[in-house]
Amino acid sequence: MRKDIAPLFREICALAPACDIEILNGESVGFCGELESAPSVYALAKRLCPWRKGPFHIGTFTIDSEWVSSKKYALLEPHLNLRDKRVGDVGCNNGYYMFRMLSHAPREVVGLDPSVWAYLQFLFVNHFLRSPLRFYLLGIEHLPLLSRFDTLFCLGVLYHRTDPISALRLLKNALNTGGELFLDSLFIAGDSEFVLSPKQRYAKMKNVYFIPTQSALVGWLERVGFKDIRVVATMRTTSEEQRISEWSNDESLADFLCPTDCTRTIEGYPAPQRIYIHAKI
Ligand code: SAH
Repeated sequence: MRKDIAPLFREICALAPACDIEILNGESVGFCGELESAPSVYALAKRLCPWRKGPFHIGTFTIDSEWVSSKKYALLEPHLNLRDKRVGDVGCNNGYYMFRMLSHAPREVVGLDPSVWAYLQFLFVNHFLRSPLRFYLLGIEHLPLLSRFDTLFCLGVLYHRTDPISALRLLKNALNTGGELFLDSLFIAGDSEFVLSPKQRYAKMKNVYFIPTQSALVGWLERVGFKDIRVVATMRTTSEEQRISEWSNDESLADFLCPTDCTRTIEGYPAPQRIYIHAKI
C-alpha cells in the first residue's frame, strides 16, 4: 500500500512541545503527563506504525516497538564516553539510541538514515521533546559530505551493505584522529575467516549480503586501518529482544526461525547472533 507522508508530516509539525526527555523504567524514551488532544496524538502514533525501534513513552501511552532497543543500548552504554564529542549514528532509524546518548553530554549528535518513515517517527517524538538532535536523510555513502566525528555508531547496518569493506572505510575516513567506532553486526560461529553470503534471503530479509565470522570481521576492520579492536559482547537474538507487538509488523523473529529448530533460520542458516565491537583509528 502506498503511504502518503504529506498529511502525516503536517500533523506532526503541528504537535505541541511537551517537556524534558525522561528515560522511563530504564528503557522508554519520552515523557509522562497528560497531553492536549491525547486521542489524536495516539491515533497519529498508530498511523506511524510499524515502529521497529523503541520503546517510547508519549505522555500516557507506550510505543512498544518490535525491537526492545534498550537491550542493545544497555550492552553499549557502560563503554560510552561521549562528553563534549561530536557523535554520529549511521543508520539511526528513528533515533532511539540518539535520544539515549543525550544523557552523556555530547557536544552534538547527528543521525543519518535514508528512511523517510524512520524520519517521520523521529520528528513525531522530537516534536514533543525538542531535543538538539539532528537527523539527516542520508546514508553511510554520504559520510564524506559531512564534518568528521569523534565517535561513530554503526549498528545493524553492515550486513545490509553489498560492499562491507568499503562501508568500513567510509566510517574510518569520517572519524577525527583518535576517533572511535561502535559497530554491531550479525556474525556466524567459527574460528576461521569465513563469510556467509545468503543465496536469496536470510531470516526472510532480502537485503542481507555478507555475515562474517568474528575473525573475518576483525580482519575487515584491520584491513581498513582500525586498531585496538575489542569485542564488547556477543549475543544471540531472542524473542525478548525482537517480537511482534501491537506497534510492529505482523511478523517477527519467531516467524523468521525454523519452527522445529530455533538454532536455524527458516532458510536453514545459523540463527541470528550479533557481535558488538569497539575500534579506534
Ligand atoms: N541502528 C539501528 C537500526 C538498524 S536497522 C539499530 O541497530 O537498531 C538498519 C537501518 O539502516 C534502517 O533504519 C535503515 O533505514 C538504515 N539504512 C538503510 N540504508 C542505509 C544506508 N545507505 N546508510 C545508512 N543507513 C541505512
